[in-house]
Amino acid sequence: MTPEEWGSFVQSYAGRPEDFGAWAWRTLKIPEEMLYIAPYEAPPPEANGDFFCNYHGCFNVYKTKQARENHFNVVHLGFRVPCPDCNAVLMNRNSLPRHRRDHCLKRKPA
Ligand SMILES: [Zn+2]
Ligand SMILES: [Zn+2]
Repeated sequence: MTPEEWGSFVQSYAGRPEDFGAWAWRTLKIPEEMLYIAPYEAPPPEANGDFFCNYHGCFNVYKTKQARENHFNVVHLGFRVPCPDCNAVLMNRNSLPRHRRDHCLKRKPA
């Protein structure tokens, strides 16, 4: 299935987001686990300007494209990790302890 075909397939779905997975699985007759690697092309944001996470199975909605992308990168791609204490964004989870110890703007005095 090409991305274009997947896109129009998704567009043809009019039900509730939480039912999408079951519907797609039933309609396409594909193994359920395949859905988790297929991109979920969210509805276009024309309705209210919201940005939907376009990862299948995730239905988070964001007010800005940037926030959506941040979420996607962090949650689904996993190559950036936001520091919970400051706004720093780290390249991977392993740098978090060192960041918090040595570089975090909000780090606590030792
Ligand atoms: Zn998501
Ligand atoms: Zn920090």
